[in-house]
Amino acid sequence: MARTAGRHFLQIPGPTNVPDRVLRAIDMPTMDHRGPEFARLTKKVLADVKHIFKCEGPVIVYPSSGTGAWEAALVNTLSPGDRVLMYETGHFATLWRGIADKLGLIPEFIESDWRRGADPEAIGARLVEDTAHEIKAVCVVHNETSTGCTSRIGEIRAALDKAAHPALLMVDTISSLASIDYRHDEWGVDVTVAGSQKGLMLPPGLAFNAVSEKALKASEQSALPKSYFGWAEILAANETGFFPYTPATNLIYGLAEAVDMLLEEGLDAVFARHDRHAEATRRAVRAWGLEILCVEPKEYSSSLTAILMPAGESADAVRRVVLENYDMSLGTGLGRVADKVFRIGHLGDFNDLTLLGTLAGVEMGLRLAGVSHQSGGVQAAMDYLSNATDAAETEPVAASR
Ligand SMILES: *Cc1c(COP(=O)(O)O)cnc(C)c1O
Repeated sequence: MARTAGRHFLQIPGPTNVPDRVLRAIDMPTMDHRGPEFARLTKKVLADVKHIFKCEGPVIVYPSSGTGAWEAALVNTLSPGDRVLMYETGHFATLWRGIADKLGLIPEFIESDWRRGADPEAIGARLVEDTAHEIKAVCVVHNETSTGCTSRIGEIRAALDKAAHPALLMVDTISSLASIDYRHDEWGVDVTVAGSQKGLMLPPGLAFNAVSEKALKASEQSALPKSYFGWAEILAANETGFFPYTPATNLIYGLAEAVDMLLEEGLDAVFARHDRHAEATRRAVRAWGLEILCVEPKEYSSSLTAILMPAGESADAVRRVVLENYDMSLGTGLGRVADKVFRIGHLGDFNDLTLLGTLAGVEMGLRLAGVSHQSGGVQAAMDYLSNATDAAETEPVAASR
């Protein structure tokens, strides 16, 4: 096969592009995971990563994909036959529900049209009905990566409080952490689920549970079987800077570097950067005359945009043309929206010119694939990005999410 020159554009909503600084940090000799140098590193990184989750309590790190952290959240806190309230924001919420099912929990799904975030009122209404407190946990996806819709976690917390319901609140932040404002403690989240390969700018392979006091208490009563994912042994080993089994040492070097980079930039600046690139992307989509899948502006995702194809047009055909001609990967439509949407990832290590290159690839791909659209999307994004006044007027995202 002929060589392809230039860097591949990896514009799927995770895994994201890994910055050179993180690659260099990982590209170091593997060290003794039971030695003093590793213990020092573990203690530092476990403390620093709390700034990213905005939590005071422990963050547990697994050598796992994000899916493992979903399972860990459930098996550590719940017991067979427990009822869990979940919200169908899209494909990832549906997968999480599937895990609850397989583990012997009773998931209750609030159905939705995959075009908005979880509705705090619907959750609150169901909790008010549950006077016997049979629902033991509410599980919500913060940023639904299949649709580009964000859920308002602060308002969902308020709905639990208003219903005076004792259920645990568990939130999947796999595609929002370190891209979209998130506050574990302030929003009273009991288990935050995260992964390494999206906003954290690392390769796949690490997963996280940030846990509250209440979640730790629940874990003492939880009767679901757990071994590898059990919190107690990991927390005990972490006290001295170690793990009960071999951790992903080199990814942990990368994590330390990624956390440093995020804190150097400042989390607020990181979030503002993502908001701005998301707004520029939406302006391009509107200029093309195409439709944004998310219908609720206050729930627009800042880490990705899902774009609905005109009726009868194939999203996967556009993705194929873009990959073959411009060496760029775009996100595929998942589940119910397969071939109907494609997704532009604009999260992680990303700047104005990365976005403009990405949008140029999409606009050229639309033309080459013969999709009916108007040109001028890239221009609309450039106008927005290069207009300081405009940029200052970016609609502030709802503080509660
Ligand atoms: C990517 C993603 C997952 C799955 O994570 P894996 O690392 O593939 O297991 C789950 N939830 C959301 C919201 C995601 O974006």
